[in-house]
Amino acid sequence: MPDVAARLAAVRDRIREAEQTHGRQPGSVELLAVSKRQPLDAMQTAYEAGQRAFGENYLQEGVDKCQAMTATDIEWHFIGALQSNKTRPAAEGFDWVHAVDRLKIARRLSEQRPETLGALQCCIQVNVSGEASKAGVSPQALPELAHAVAELPRLRLRGLMTLPEAVTGFEAQRAAFSQLRQLQEALIDDGLALDTLSMGMSNDLEAAIAEGATLVRLGTAVFGPRPEKTP
Ligand SMILES: *Cc1c(COP(=O)(O)O)cnc(C)c1O
Repeated sequence: MPDVAARLAAVRDRIREAEQTHGRQPGSVELLAVSKRQPLDAMQTAYEAGQRAFGENYLQEGVDKCQAMTATDIEWHFIGALQSNKTRPAAEGFDWVHAVDRLKIARRLSEQRPETLGALQCCIQVNVSGEASKAGVSPQALPELAHAVAELPRLRLRGLMTLPEAVTGFEAQRAAFSQLRQLQEALIDDGLALDTLSMGMSNDLEAAIAEGATLVRLGTAVFGPRPEKTP
């Protein structure tokens, strides 16, 4: 899998360049390698090239990979949609959950987080583009949810996440990310200690970094096209 190492190096350069272009502190944007549907050997190659944070979308696949990758210094992020009856594997197996969008799910994650582990790091997913088909809480409902999630004992609310409508053009991409940043700033003004903006994927990471992303979720830019079926 030498191409994974080369892609990873290229995408790190892209991030560094975007940080520089947009006046961001060098190293202020973390790369989350989104490994959904990618085989373990590709993940292993990324690990050997220094990648430590991996993101998975499908619960069973993610849990299987956590068990199969034996390195203990990997940070596992669950970035997919969660159903409220399937929160336990996420609470037990992952370090982060990015797509919390209902209090019911947050409460279950908090209750199910094992005492032997630290708090579960989480982000609230916001539907900034207002598409009916997209998951995420509406901007209007966000403040109430954020304050409630921040009170849960076994979760640590770190910030916001979004998966905006795919649009082309830098300025159009930037608009949704700008909205997420402003929502986060309002919550911080309102007393919440948030430090994470999970936004930007392979096609729009520069726009996300321009608007303050602290974590970009990159799949194809790191691993190449995703295989059709779960390996
Ligand atoms: C698949 C996925 C990504 C990565 O997408 P790429 O376009 O391959 O970089 C990021 N975030 C979420 C929530 C995803 O489902």
